[in-house]
Amino acid sequence: MRQSTYLLPTLREAPTEAETVSHRLMVRAGFIRQLAAGIYTYLPMGWRVLRKVEEIVRQEMDRAGAQEILMPAMQPAELWQESGRYEVYGPELIRLRDRHDREFALGPTHEEVVTTLMRNEVRSYRKLPMNLYQIQTKFRDERRPRFGLLRGREFLMKDAYSFDADWEGLNKSYWAMYEAYNRIFTRCGLNFRAVEADAGAIGGEGGTHEFMALADIGEDTIAVCSHCDYAANLEKAEAGEGNEQYRKVAAGAHEKFHTPGLRTIDQLTTSLGLDAKQFAKTLIYLADGQPVAVVVRGDHEANEIKIKNFLNAIQVELADTETTERVTGAPVGYAGPVGLSIPILVDRAVAAMPTVVTGANEKEHHLRNVQPGVHFTLDRTGDFRNVIEGDQCPRCAGTLQFYRGIEVGHVFKLGTKYSEKLGAVYLDQTGSEQLMVMGCYGIGVSRVLSAIIEQSSDEHGMRWPLAIAPFHVHLIPVSVKDETQMALADQLYERLQSAGVEVLMDDRDERPGVKFKDSDLVGIPIRITVGKGAADGVVEYKERDAADKSDLSVEEAVARIM
Ligand code: ATP
Ligand code: MG
Ligand code: MG
Ligand code: MG
Repeated sequence: MRQSTYLLPTLREAPTEAETVSHRLMVRAGFIRQLAAGIYTYLPMGWRVLRKVEEIVRQEMDRAGAQEILMPAMQPAELWQESGRYEVYGPELIRLRDRHDREFALGPTHEEVVTTLMRNEVRSYRKLPMNLYQIQTKFRDERRPRFGLLRGREFLMKDAYSFDADWEGLNKSYWAMYEAYNRIFTRCGLNFRAVEADAGAIGGEGGTHEFMALADIGEDTIAVCSHCDYAANLEKAEAGEGNEQYRKVAAGAHEKFHTPGLRTIDQLTTSLGLDAKQFAKTLIYLADGQPVAVVVRGDHEANEIKIKNFLNAIQVELADTETTERVTGAPVGYAGPVGLSIPILVDRAVAAMPTVVTGANEKEHHLRNVQPGVHFTLDRTGDFRNVIEGDQCPRCAGTLQFYRGIEVGHVFKLGTKYSEKLGAVYLDQTGSEQLMVMGCYGIGVSRVLSAIIEQSSDEHGMRWPLAIAPFHVHLIPVSVKDETQMALADQLYERLQSAGVEVLMDDRDERPGVKFKDSDLVGIPIRITVGKGAADGVVEYKERDAADKSDLSVEEAVARIM
C-alpha cells in the first residue's frame, strides 16, 4: 500500500473526550473515527487490524469444530417475547418498528435467533453436538459508551452457541471453547487471566468464566490467588462463594483507611495513585452496600475547578446503575470553605453515614475535627489494590492479588433455559424428545483492539505484535524526490509484497521527521528506511520495539524480514 493515496489521517492531538491511551492513539493514528457516541467508522488501518483479530478468532473456532454462520442484526420482537427477555433486557436493547408497525430489536446477542434456527433445522441426536458461531455487529444502547472501541453501542462480537444432548456434552463443549479462548488471546499477544464470573443477566445454571485482559483502565476488579488457580471477578466474589471472604477484605480495607488525617485532592490523585474515578471505585468497595458520603472541604473559590472536576468524576462513577445498587444513597458534595464549621452537605442524614473527607489543599489539615459523622480519611500510599493485597484466598492458604481487567471474552453454560422457552428439542436414540443443552461464548473482537493497545504502547504510539499488525513492514524512502532512493524503495516494495509480506510504503513528500513520527504512532513492527545509503544498496532496519537500528544490505534486510 502506498501511503500517499492511503486514507491514514494522523493527528497531532487527540480529541479531549478521549480519556484512555487506546482511544487517543486509535484516533490520532487514523484507525477510527467517531460518527456518534459509541459508534465508529474503522478506517483502513483499523479495519486491517480488526480483520487480523477476526482471522485468529475464525481459525481457532474452526479448529475447535465450530461452524461459521451469519445471523441477522434485525430480530423480530416476538422472539424476545418468547424467551421472556423483551421486557427484562431494559434500555440497552435498541427497539424499532417497521412500516407495518411490527416491533423489532437490533441484536445485542443472538440466543433467541440461534435457538430458533436449531429448533427448526435439527431434530436428531445424530447432529449433536453442534456449535454455531458468527462474527457480527452487535447493538447495545450502553448507558455510558466510552473509551472508544472499549464500550461501543455498535461493536463487533464473535458469538458462538453450542448445542449438546446432555450436560456431560455441554461440559466438553464448554472446555473446548475455554481452550480456544486461551489460544485466541495468547495469539493476540494479550496478558490475560480467565476468571470465574457471575452469570449476571444472561442467567443459566452452570459455570461461567470471563477472560480479562489486565489493564489499569479496566472496569472490573479481579482477584487472583498467588498459590492455587483461584481467580475471580470481584463481582462474583461478592455475589457467591467469595462473599464472606470479600467482606473480610473490605473490612480490612476499612481499618486501613480509618486513620485520621485529611488528604488533599492532589495527594489523592498523585501519592495515592488514585484518580477521582478510582477513588470512587474504592469507595464502592469500602462502602460494601452501606450509604457513604463524600465531602470535599477546602477553599472553594480558590480550588473551584479542581473541586468541581473531582466531584463530577466521582458523581459520574457513583451514578452507574450497577453501582447505585451496591452503594445506596451516596451524597457527594462540597462541604464549605476553610474554617466553616457546619459543612453544607453534612446534615443529619449524612452525619450518620461513614464519611470520606478529603481536603482541597494543605491548609485543610487542622480542620479534622470539624466534621460530624465517622471519618474515613485515606492514609495510605499505594492504590486500593495495594491496600487489600495480601488477603487470603478462599480456596487455599495463598494470598489474593488484585488487578483491573478488561472483559475481552466470556463463556457461559446456559443449560436448557433457551431451549425450553423456545422449544429446541431433539429426538434421542429411543425416539423421545429431549431439550438441547446450550452454552454461549462471546468475544469482543473490536474491544480486543483497545485491550491490545492498552497493554502495548509507549509515549510515541502503538506497538503491534506481528500477528495482528496492520502491516508487517513500514518502508520509508527519506526523500521521494531522490530517484535512487525511490527506485530502491519501489524495488523492495515489489519484492516484499510478492513474497507475501504486507508493506506500507510512505511515499509522501513529507519531512523525514514527520514520517518517522507517524511511523512510531501507527506502530508497524518493522521499519525499513531508504536514505543516503541507497546508492550503495544499504537500508536501515529498525524494529518498533527495539531502540537499536542497523544498516543492512538489501539482501540482508530481506532475509531478516522473511
Ligand atoms: P460488559 O461487562 O463489559 O458490559 P458484557 O458482560 O455485557 O460486557 P457479554 O454479554 O458477555 O458482555 O458479551 C460478550 C463480549 O462482548 C464481552 O466479553 C465483551 O468483550 C464484548 N462486549 C460487550 N459489550 C461491549 C461493548 N459495549 N463494546 C464492545 N465490546 C463489548
Ligand atoms: Mg454489558
Ligand atoms: Mg460483563
Ligand atoms: Mg459478559
